[in-house]
Amino acid sequence: MAHVKTKLVRAALAIGLLTGPALAAAAPGEGFDVTRYDLALTPDIPNGTVAGREVITLRATRDGLQRLDFSGNGLTIDKATLDGVPVTARSEDDGLGFALGQPLKRGRAVRLEVQYHGRPARGLSGSATSLYTSYFACDWMICLQDQFGDKAAFSLALHVPAGMETLSVGRKVAKTPAPDGGELHRWTAPRPYSAYLFGFAVGRFARVEERVGSARLTYLSEVADADELKRRFAPTGDMVRFFADKAGAPLPVSEYSQLLVKGREAQEAATYSVLGVEALATNADDPAQDWAIAHELAHQWWGNLVTCATLKDFWLNEGVTTFMTAAWKEHRYGRAAYDAELAVARGRLDKARAAGFDKPLAWDGRYPSLATRRAVQYSKGALFMDHLRTTLGERAFWAGLRRYTRAHAGGAVTSLDFERAMEASSGRDLRPLFAEWVFGADAPGSVPRP
Ligand SMILES: [Zn+2]
Repeated sequence: MAHVKTKLVRAALAIGLLTGPALAAAAPGEGFDVTRYDLALTPDIPNGTVAGREVITLRATRDGLQRLDFSGNGLTIDKATLDGVPVTARSEDDGLGFALGQPLKRGRAVRLEVQYHGRPARGLSGSATSLYTSYFACDWMICLQDQFGDKAAFSLALHVPAGMETLSVGRKVAKTPAPDGGELHRWTAPRPYSAYLFGFAVGRFARVEERVGSARLTYLSEVADADELKRRFAPTGDMVRFFADKAGAPLPVSEYSQLLVKGREAQEAATYSVLGVEALATNADDPAQDWAIAHELAHQWWGNLVTCATLKDFWLNEGVTTFMTAAWKEHRYGRAAYDAELAVARGRLDKARAAGFDKPLAWDGRYPSLATRRAVQYSKGALFMDHLRTTLGERAFWAGLRRYTRAHAGGAVTSLDFERAMEASSGRDLRPLFAEWVFGADAPGSVPRP
């Protein structure tokens, strides 16, 4: 028995699973910048589990880095190495840390290779014959869920049963047979994205393709046939043209897909969106019900291409997009539909205020609930956009939005970037307005100027 035990201990040491000297956890992403995630994943569809091999290429941003902390998840780490040398993985309440044998110097680039398996606690849904992810990427892979500003390249090789369709970020660059009779579908992202935008889907999907300009629109579903997909997603092409005009930039991806699923899902991913049947209009001409397609598509520009650097400025993703959804309705159905959309936003903010809660848009505290967070970052954000539009006038307002979108395409932004674009387009000092709505009038130093 002793012999067996020693062997087990050696094996555990070799794969770095035994606890080393305690080293305090840092916030996920602190001290390093991820350049790319390359992932090979085998999803088990009926069981809702995954097994993965992941290579994370990263660079130390400070000297003496001794630990790499990622977002916590419920996965089991089977093996972890840094440039081929075993490292210790430690799962804690809110993080997953890798303790390094040798501290890293600032600027040093390394490869962290991790093998894992398990059942993701969040972010993976489906049926007996399909799976799709939604938002919580770092529950099914190792990544940085809330580090919106740390955009990284992404590739995913999905190992699936033969005959399955897959969807992931960017373009499917190869489909090859796997030794077990299954298939490997390799996907590559067209540009670096924030980790919360990584995702995939697998199933036997009906499929429809359309073109708008030089871009391809693809609609996929396990729960609807091609005719229904065509009907439900009919407004997409016009929406692409409208948002491209308002953004001053074409659809940022050459292929944009929409996956139709059961339920009320409405979630953007890097180059596609997942939409639930119940979130969509039954009647394509009903102005009350096409918000979900518009909202998630608008994220291709505001959120995915131009991304808030931290959650503090999340209104730049969601408030802008909520407003742009209202703007689409105005364009498609007339002014009353725009007003109705903003009235919904006003109602939500009023409800939060009645409960004693209201904050500036870039407030950095903890929201008491998801509803209050949304009342500020989505609803108040949209109302602020409308207020700016009225205050600056059509010309300066839309020119400012175009300037902001083009200047920061592919990057990460703060509220100050947005303010500067609006000031440049209008020629006005907007500090008082931004102090009132965005930064908080009495927050000292809240309106920094270089
Ligand atoms: Zn959104």
